[in-house]
Order: sequence, then C-alpha cells, then structure tokens
Amino acid sequence: MLTRMSKQPPAFQASPAPLRPRFWETVPLRRMTPAEWEALCDGCGKCCLNKIEYEDTGEVDFTRVACRLLDGETCRCTHYPIRHQFVPDCVSLTPKS
Ligand code: SF4
Repeated sequence: MLTRMSKQPPAFQASPAPLRPRFWETVPLRRMTPAEWEALCDGCGKCCLNKIEYEDTGEVDFTRVACRLLDGETCRCTHYPIRHQFVPDCVSLTPKS
C-alpha cells in the first residue's frame, strides 16, 4: 500500500488563515499572527505528555502517560480547537507566556 505524505505538517493544513512565506525566519514571535504562532508546533507531542514535578527540587520529568486527547499515531490533539472543554488545564502557550 502506498501512503502519500504531505510535505507540510498538519498544523499548516488545518490553519484557516494564510501564513506569510517563511515567517518563522523573518517574523519575531511577538509579531506573529495567531495562525503563525500555532503553526510553529512541529507535532512532537511532548507538550501532551503528563509530567511530574518533584516537590523537593522543583525538577520536572516527563512520564510515558499521554493526555487522553492525544492521538498516538499522529501526535496531534484530536480536539485541538475545543480541547479546553475536555482538558481545562491544557496550557495555551502564547508569545507573552
Ligand atoms: S488537550 Fe490536546 S493539546 Fe492539550 S495536552 Fe491534551 S492532547 Fe495535548
């Protein structure tokens, strides 16, 4: 079976707003549009792994347990636009934060 892969990551395809060509090389983070900011995600899935913080040191480690909305095949959130309805504490990263 032949599987055709897009050269662009899913975040690029799902974004409804146009992205400036090679914006990641020319536009400072604080000047990116929300769509460009979201498109920076490379889909590694690390953000969606549960983590533990050691009380005594404050050190944070990844666990092997993923959020229930993470698709383990694609490393993408299955309900990203409405994820906070299901996972209220999912962190929304912004240039400011
Ligand atoms: S809700 Fe979606 S984006 Fe947030 S941690 Fe879970 S899988 Fe990741």
